[in-house]
Amino acid sequence: MSELERAAELILDAETVVALTGAGASADSGIPTFRGKDGLWNRYDPRELATPEAFAKDPEKVWKWYLWRRKKIAEAEPNDAHRILARMEEEGLLEAVITQNVDGLHQRAGSERVIELHGNIWRDECIDCDYERMNDPERGEGLEYDELPPRCPECGELLRPGVVWFGEPLPPDALVEAEELARGCDVMLVIGTSGEVRPAADLPVIARQHGARLIEINPSETQLSHHMHVCIRERAAPAMRRLWEEIRAMR
Ligand code: NAD
Ligand code: ZN
Repeated sequence: MSELERAAELILDAETVVALTGAGASADSGIPTFRGKDGLWNRYDPRELATPEAFAKDPEKVWKWYLWRRKKIAEAEPNDAHRILARMEEEGLLEAVITQNVDGLHQRAGSERVIELHGNIWRDECIDCDYERMNDPERGEGLEYDELPPRCPECGELLRPGVVWFGEPLPPDALVEAEELARGCDVMLVIGTSGEVRPAADLPVIARQHGARLIEINPSETQLSHHMHVCIRERAAPAMRRLWEEIRAMR
């Protein structure tokens, strides 16, 4: 039996399937990853920009980087990996997507239950008060500001992008929900994550400890590969297309 057939069989036999996605799931939409072959961001070191310290030191520079990323994301389209996950949920084959991505492409592809562990790049949040707003790029929002860094309309303090930076805690509700899903699922489909960012990388381990089977879709071996029951060494979009064909043929 091929790895693909085994994956399809595990999914069809499972009661609860959950997907965990990372930057690699959006790579086929043309959005660069942090790590891996094509993950180098011209002249920027993400780790030196995506931190509270970097923002405190030079908020304008950090904002410029985020506006550049927003532009790239606004120009991108969901790929077949996003679309097939949405379709699987619609057909009752997938419970939820837990994502480390901040691009919102799962929602754009039609996924309903998306748990965002690292926030959403389209949100602006005040660093001081409770003010926040969600920008809609389709309406041209959040792509440029009259003043950089932008300021809170309520209190005048700085606004920041609504993402989790290195060294910051994850949104507690999202983490609790993700851990519950990890403990309760029979299969976790781990797509395009290097497994180097914790606590997201712990979720497959938690799932496995609670009896789940793990399927990895990633062209490269990762920190998580040795925990996997099935590994599909292919890019996310073609792998999900072939997996979906296999599932449909077996159903
Ligand atoms: P990562 O950059 O650490 O790892 C990316 C992984 O994707 C690697 O294992 C690589 O082998 C794999 N990959 C590359 N191309 C792929 C493809 N076409 N199909 C499938 N897999 C592919 O990403 P991470 O594990 O998600 O962690 C990085 C952090 O960076 C996350 O916290 C995330 O929030 C953030 N990030 C988000 C985005 C986004 O929202 N699209 C993009 C970059 C980084
Ligand atoms: Zn404010």
